[in-house]
Amino acid sequence: IPREGIHPYMNGKIRSPAGQANGSTNDRIQIVDEQKNFTTDLSSQIEQWGLRDAGFGYNIVAVFGSQSTGKSTLLNGLFGTNFDVMDETNRRQTTKGIWMCRAKGMDVMVMDVEGTDGRERGEDQDFERKAALFSLASSEILIINLWEHQVGLYQGANMGLLKTVFEVNLGLFGKSQDSASQRTLLLFVIRDHIGTTPLANLSGTLTADLSKIWDGLSKPAELQDRKLSDYFDLSFTALPHKILAPEKFVAGVQTLRSRFSDKDNEDFVFKPAYHKRIPADGVAIYMEGIWEQVQTNKDLDLPTQQELLAQFRCDEIASVALAEFSEQAKSQRRPVEAGRVVEGLGSLMRDWKSQALSRYDRDASRYHQDVYKRKRADLLGVIDSTLSPLFLGQLKNLHKSCLVTFKKDMVAGMRGDAYNFADVVAAAREKCEKRFTQEAEEARLHDTDWVWEDELELLREEVKAVADQCRADETKKLINLTDRNIRKQLSEPVELHLNTASPDMWDKILNAYKEILEKGEATYLSKARSFNCTEEENTRALATVRKRAWLALRSKIDEQTADTVILGKLRTHFEERFRYDEHGVPQVWKPEDDIDGAFKKARDQTLELLPLYAKIAPSDPSAAYELPSDAGTLSLDDAQVDEEFDFAATLLVLSETKIMDLSSRFRKDADAYYVEAKRSTVSSIAQ
Ligand code: GDP
Ligand code: MG
Repeated sequence: IPREGIHPYMNGKIRSPAGQANGSTNDRIQIVDEQKNFTTDLSSQIEQWGLRDAGFGYNIVAVFGSQSTGKSTLLNGLFGTNFDVMDETNRRQTTKGIWMCRAKGMDVMVMDVEGTDGRERGEDQDFERKAALFSLASSEILIINLWEHQVGLYQGANMGLLKTVFEVNLGLFGKSQDSASQRTLLLFVIRDHIGTTPLANLSGTLTADLSKIWDGLSKPAELQDRKLSDYFDLSFTALPHKILAPEKFVAGVQTLRSRFSDKDNEDFVFKPAYHKRIPADGVAIYMEGIWEQVQTNKDLDLPTQQELLAQFRCDEIASVALAEFSEQAKSQRRPVEAGRVVEGLGSLMRDWKSQALSRYDRDASRYHQDVYKRKRADLLGVIDSTLSPLFLGQLKNLHKSCLVTFKKDMVAGMRGDAYNFADVVAAAREKCEKRFTQEAEEARLHDTDWVWEDELELLREEVKAVADQCRADETKKLINLTDRNIRKQLSEPVELHLNTASPDMWDKILNAYKEILEKGEATYLSKARSFNCTEEENTRALATVRKRAWLALRSKIDEQTADTVILGKLRTHFEERFRYDEHGVPQVWKPEDDIDGAFKKARDQTLELLPLYAKIAPSDPSAAYELPSDAGTLSLDDAQVDEEFDFAATLLVLSETKIMDLSSRFRKDADAYYVEAKRSTVSSIAQ
């Protein structure tokens, strides 16, 4: 049970109990308990120790040795840790398992392996073997702790332990080609060194024993030639008796401590080659995985373990990187979905992406490179597919916005009369495409296969449709304007010539018509030049102008030949001949005057006008006006023009029945004049 409370060695930091969870925030932790279960709290403990983000900038040391040889005492002295030490007074066995502490003032994790002396007590060696595997897979240095009097006892428990360590190490690193970077330091600490036998002699004895053990190992055939020094560096040190020479003991411990803490010490123990290259943030999971393999007696394959660790950690790191990224991406999803063009979306997306990647790279790049790269590609995929809808949405919105602006620019450009349609379209189109291209390119992530060209193509088509519609509207407007002008100009000559009925009346009208129309057509063409219309469109427009001009002429003629109007004209004509003499002086009838003859003459002359009005028929056939033969098929959405019409039929102004009707009505009018004339002679006689 981990001890609660604050230990004086704890980096001077005092933790508030409120911040503690399940006791795991203690400065030491039992990572493997007596039931050989691995703790679930190591990860958070490493974080509490402040080592989680250390990368490779940390070290791990483990201690091995027989029970009650002062291992925990040594570690506490060297590293300022607080491992349990056997109580002197009742000599109770301390808790078994593997404990871990952070060294005071060093980025070092220290493992205290509390085993049993299986050999001496006849207990199982299972734990010892597992602990050795576990420690070798993670530690840079194994401190082998032994009494001076154990040196040379080749058959002793220590030698059994070392045999186990060697065997296990062969299994772990035996096949490794790279012995220069896969080494472990065995640091022998000889306790209760009396001094009569010099350390050099003790080292010699131990080295000889180690060689014997190594040679006695049954090695696989391909590893027969491997030497102990291919895998291990050996170092020996001795400490005086703690009870008999306490001051010397303390001084010895201090000297040894500086070999761990002082990088400038020429005997500094932590060499890069010893490091197992597990990033600090993966140590807990790695150890847990190793222990699980060890526990289930599976073959411990370190490269596989490292790859598994890399997969697990890279996934974790990626999902942390993604979490923040997703929040950022989400912030712009709504505006994009709502149809907004988000300004600087591309640079936002690039920021989120590079932030996520650098978060991932910072932590994950320390792991197995293949795994790191593979997971990075996955992460990139997720990032890009998260951002892709934003990009596509932005394009759609940009497309819409550009089209709206294009329409507005067209309207604004066509305000007033002094504009050139083609220039207005060209300017608006250029502005539209430029903006789209710029903003679409801004939104694109350059390391993707995203494209916006298709969307631009769609936009172009719609812009063209709008421009075409505007052009059609403009054409229609110009046709209407031309039509109005022609109509206005036709009015006077038609009235004039129809009033003074003469045999060449129609020649005059048609000539005037021809002239006005030609002028109208010319004006139309000059104004329509900026529409960039096709030849065919111009031909069609002119045909419409012509047809409508003809209809205008016809309606003016109809107006001037309406019953009352034409009867008025006839009456005027008749009166001029019957009531006035050839000098334009009003006629005063005398009884001897031939009223009957004059009346008949004026009446018949007047009636002769009716056939003249009845049909548009110039006396000079060359003045005859003909409409283009396809005039009837033209269309400019104009119902008036679309109506089927028969040109020959439009030449007829008054039908036979109409003429009969008009002549009988005129006769009645004329009769009235006759009666009035007769009456005036009677009254003059009566005077
Ligand atoms: P561990 O079981 O190997 O971890 O040993 P402990 O550190 O718990 O110590 C076991 C006993 O040995 C304790 O009573 C210690 O006081 C005592 N002890 C510690 N260091 C030394 C030493 O250097 N020499 C001797 N003779 N006794 C020691
Ligand atoms: Mg102990």
